[in-house]
Amino acid sequence: VASSAKSVERLMAELRRLPGVGERTAERLAYHLLAGTRKEARDLAQAILDACERVRACGVCFHLDESDPCRFCADAGRDGTVLLVVEDPRDVHAFEAAGFRGRYHVLQGRIAPLEGIGPTDLTLAALARRVAAGGIREVCVATSPDLEGEATAAHVRELLEGKTVAVTRIARGIPAGASIRHAQMTILADALAGRRPL
Ligand SMILES: [Zn+2]
Repeated sequence: VASSAKSVERLMAELRRLPGVGERTAERLAYHLLAGTRKEARDLAQAILDACERVRACGVCFHLDESDPCRFCADAGRDGTVLLVVEDPRDVHAFEAAGFRGRYHVLQGRIAPLEGIGPTDLTLAALARRVAAGGIREVCVATSPDLEGEATAAHVRELLEGKTVAVTRIARGIPAGASIRHAQMTILADALAGRRPL
């Protein structure tokens, strides 16, 4: 074994920690990087560091952005009376592409008892505080239309019960089990347009 083997092993071990990367893929990626130039490797490492150092969760809506408040919270041209509750920052991008122009609240996940994720692991307390602060007319829950997404939606409804705010749910139409972030733009636009009381 060459002296470099240890560092290659370490690189593969780090790559294996990424989602969807198994042993084979880690090996393929590692050797692809080793075959490239030093500059390519440095650019990749720098891009990872820059993104991780510059991007943070918005203090208002928990979307990931380089500024806090994020660009959506800072944009005075948006409709601040409608709050779209989503699971993940990627869902923000999906609804943005579908034409939503209100404000967002990112839960940072969904209630998933089997994975040990409960209500207190999400940004639900912050959501309740935002609603209590006033100015919000409608909270539309746009979690995925699967078991965990529906359970999370039900929890948001209970959380906001009795508050002077309409709680709605995006319309069905997104195939059950399909994730929001992979749904087609037109389907998301229809789901938004057809939202109904939860
Ligand atoms: Zn924000």
